[in-house]
Amino acid sequence: DRPAAPRAAAPAPSTAPAREVTSLTNPVVKDLRALHLKKEREASGLFLAEGLKLVTDALDEGWPIRTLVHATRVKDQPLVVRAVAAAKARGALVLEVSDEVLVKICRRDNPQMVVAAFVQKIARLADLAAPSGVWVALEGVKDPGNLGTIIRTVDSVGAAGVILIGDTTDPFALEAVRATMGSLFHVPIAAATLEEFSAWTAAHRLPVWGTHLKGAVDYRSVAWPETCVVLMGNEQSGLPEAYVAVCDGLVKIPMAGKADSLNLAVATAVMLYEVRRRALGV
Ligand code: SAM
Repeated sequence: DRPAAPRAAAPAPSTAPAREVTSLTNPVVKDLRALHLKKEREASGLFLAEGLKLVTDALDEGWPIRTLVHATRVKDQPLVVRAVAAAKARGALVLEVSDEVLVKICRRDNPQMVVAAFVQKIARLADLAAPSGVWVALEGVKDPGNLGTIIRTVDSVGAAGVILIGDTTDPFALEAVRATMGSLFHVPIAAATLEEFSAWTAAHRLPVWGTHLKGAVDYRSVAWPETCVVLMGNEQSGLPEAYVAVCDGLVKIPMAGKADSLNLAVATAVMLYEVRRRALGV
């Protein structure tokens, strides 16, 4: 038998200053830049969060992080030092980069100084065992700005979470993430088919209230329960019949001018402030 080879000593942690990455063709830079594309986000299961606030929110909420890059010139800012330490402690790759590299990653002239790639988290309805509170269900939402704004509003009123039904825009698209202003990291998001949604609400006896221009009931006249689902239609054509069929009732927000309808995110905010009125002490 050959004697066991001596174990290599673990390398001492490097105290050398990190080298600034300036190459626009660096593979990490290319991978981060690729996360602007849906197919790359799907393939990697990752997404980009830009800006120290969003990155800090995600780290504080325990979202798994893979890569953090920051401009060399902000490396001594206390909150950047804290974010870097948290990212390293979770095994993320941390790089100091030039401003040009950040322009390339963020695809904008005024990039954020801190950008990170996190692992996407979407719940399955079946995993939400005993749902309570007010859930917002969105049928076929198409505009990432609307989706991000709705997630932010759900967070603001202390609603329970968001359920994406059918073919919707990606909550991890950069525009959606930006519009959430960090609420993405505090609000549970689930995805479901209409059948799964219908089975889940039935199993938990959750009342479902649809919002519809043809709703027979004024949204202010309902005695809103503490736990329910508010179902919103898509931007183009509203709730399809199959969705109307799973509703316990349809409410309308009255309108007085010549507009056909409210913007989806605005209608959701109006609804949530009424449904959550007592909880908010309004
Ligand atoms: N043309 C679409 C339609 O016929 O429903 C307009 C859709 S609207 C832009 C998007 C969603 O916001 C609607 O599906 C509905 O859920 C909600 N919504 C907008 N205005 C509303 C109102 N006045 N009353 C109830 N729901 C409304």
